[in-house]
Amino acid sequence: MILSKLPDVGTTIFTVMSALAKEHNAINLSQGFPDFDCDPLLHNLAYRAMQAGHNQYPPMRGIDILSEQIAMKYNALHQLSLDPVNEITVTAGAAEAIYSAITTIVHVGDEVIVIDPAYDLYKPAIILNGGIPQPFHLKTPGFKVDWDIVEGMVNERTRLIIINTPHNPIGRTLKEDDLKALEAIVEKTGIYVISDEVYEHLIFGGQQHESILRYPGLFNRGFAVFSFGKTYHITGWRVGYIVAPKSLTAEFRKVHQFNVFTVPTPLQYALAEYMKEPKHYLELPGFFEHKRNLLQEALKDSRLRPLLSEGSYFQLYDYSEISDKPDYQFVKDLTIQHGVAAIPMSVFYSNPDPSERLIRLCFGKTESTLLAAAERLSKL
Ligand code: GLN
Repeated sequence: MILSKLPDVGTTIFTVMSALAKEHNAINLSQGFPDFDCDPLLHNLAYRAMQAGHNQYPPMRGIDILSEQIAMKYNALHQLSLDPVNEITVTAGAAEAIYSAITTIVHVGDEVIVIDPAYDLYKPAIILNGGIPQPFHLKTPGFKVDWDIVEGMVNERTRLIIINTPHNPIGRTLKEDDLKALEAIVEKTGIYVISDEVYEHLIFGGQQHESILRYPGLFNRGFAVFSFGKTYHITGWRVGYIVAPKSLTAEFRKVHQFNVFTVPTPLQYALAEYMKEPKHYLELPGFFEHKRNLLQEALKDSRLRPLLSEGSYFQLYDYSEISDKPDYQFVKDLTIQHGVAAIPMSVFYSNPDPSERLIRLCFGKTESTLLAAAERLSKL
């Protein structure tokens, strides 16, 4: 028997639930990906890049014209002057960026503060690097981070904190106050920050996305992670990027080069061209807010109670009026018997509260998918 490095980890819940949905022909509101295709222009741009001969290794850090477009985007959005050569690296999706950034920073025995519930990649990546995750448990339904408690968790072994805004799975956003409080902690203690901002454009109610890039004290000690998959409905392309100051980027690239080395060349050319039109991301908040509202409206007379979703393509629903089953059992039965797949909330916590009855639904789907799912869910 192989000595497992991750003895407590199985296949990710997203893969498990999507497979179960497929097996039982259920409507899949579990894994977070759109069930509609991207802009056909992206197909054409990728094809044209291949035809133009962009089929060999690109530069390790990404092609220049893509990094330049990324820098221009953050200049337009946040008035930043990022250095495309030294501060931006194109990655194999956000997942590789986060994994490589954790590997860059975490030494054996280091503690890493993780805001729980947390996306399922963070803790295994910390453990694989010999680090120790220290969860800060957010409480339902407010999910407010108490930064005084977080500061109290920092000790001489603490190396890093990982944040995520808009947040998967809770759909909440960090506000200016949160970022300022975190900035004060980082400046005082010298810990590093990884900020998972893959849902930067999926943000509702006219809010401004609070990127760590906007806060000098966080930018200087931080890695901000972004995803073309989430922004342009191409989760299968596996292209993202990471922004960090020059010295951190140099260390990050040492890991990235021996992890994936580079990211598919024609896709980078396609994205560089596509990014020239800001409309492609500026319309996203309204597009997804409409979907969130549509699902909520369609479930209005159901016995599922929505929790606030301010961003991402997820919304938590409380099913306690329907069933007292633990969430994992509930979502399995829901998939098999009622034909709708969801994600159980408990998988995102190190120490889940056994009395909670919450599921995560992905509303990044077509209207007909959402309405068909709501019809089934309303019968519960
Ligand atoms: N980020 C997506 C989610 O939360 C899934 C990504 C994955 O399947 N690894 O559902």
